[in-house]
Amino acid sequence: MPVQEETSDVPLLQIPRRIRAVGPGWHAVLLCLHEQLGAVCPDYRVVDVKEKFGGLRVYIEAAEGSTRGSLVSLIRAAEADASVLCEFGGAPGRARSRGDAPSGWIKTVCDSCHRAWSAREIMIVSGMVRLSGRGPSATQG
Ligand SMILES: [Zn+2]
Repeated sequence: MPVQEETSDVPLLQIPRRIRAVGPGWHAVLLCLHEQLGAVCPDYRVVDVKEKFGGLRVYIEAAEGSTRGSLVSLIRAAEADASVLCEFGGAPGRARSRGDAPSGWIKTVCDSCHRAWSAREIMIVSGMVRLSGRGPSATQG
């Protein structure tokens, strides 16, 4: 296979192409971050966007010196914003385990999503909230 040359027509690997790695409650934070990063460095590239230990993590490549410092500051601020927003719906939330167990999978959730998630009624699949089908009703939050 020939190596494809990069051209300006190739969409950059930026946050919108990785946004479905996390739940919809954080998408607004990520799109805002994308605009902020683009204002500092229009050709910034994202390496990964994910949820880790219940929090939002954004990794970028490229950029050096003060530019990189600016980008990292913006990312840290967005990660802090997301740390108090329910990953399912964007309501105020905090990092909790299922049923507030002392160990286990941590997610940032609001109270109503915490109930539904603890009962395994909801989950996040490809950036969307899915009902597992085991619970009696849908939950918004
Ligand atoms: Zn919620």
